[in-house]
Amino acid sequence: MTTDFKMPSEEELKAKLTPEEYEVLRNKGTEIPYTGDFLTKTPDGVFACKVCGQPLFESTAKFDSMTGWPSFDQAIPGAVEEVTDTSHGMNRIETRCSRCKSHLGHVFDDGPTETGKRYCINSVCLDLDTNTVPPPRAPKPPLDTEETVGTIEEIPKT
Ligand SMILES: [Zn+2]
Repeated sequence: MTTDFKMPSEEELKAKLTPEEYEVLRNKGTEIPYTGDFLTKTPDGVFACKVCGQPLFESTAKFDSMTGWPSFDQAIPGAVEEVTDTSHGMNRIETRCSRCKSHLGHVFDDGPTETGKRYCINSVCLDLDTNTVPPPRAPKPPLDTEETVGTIEEIPKT
């Protein structure tokens, strides 16, 4: 991940992005449900911000929420900012790329997995990098227990 990212001007972004991408990423638009590229099963990889390339979500976090937008149950730590959004008469949490502040979608607390989160993300905000394959997901550590590094018991040889 590079840290020397220079934010393009809005004019440069208009030239780089399609009108729909620009509308969603920079004007907090929403793509039409069930139209996105990443709705169905995708190859393993890392989903990155279409504006600045920052990795945002790993394919291991993706699930089918049946909402019409690709959904993830967790973001790459530090990659996504959450901002209160009271537009359209709703009280929602907007998600933005933490580097370029582009709009990505919203996050809800009704996720079906152990994270309880449902990141509802517009496909047009994402690029899938299949050259970077995320590691298998670590099992969630048990709650209410100190983190203990147990010794592995040797299996007696018979
Ligand atoms: Zn970005």
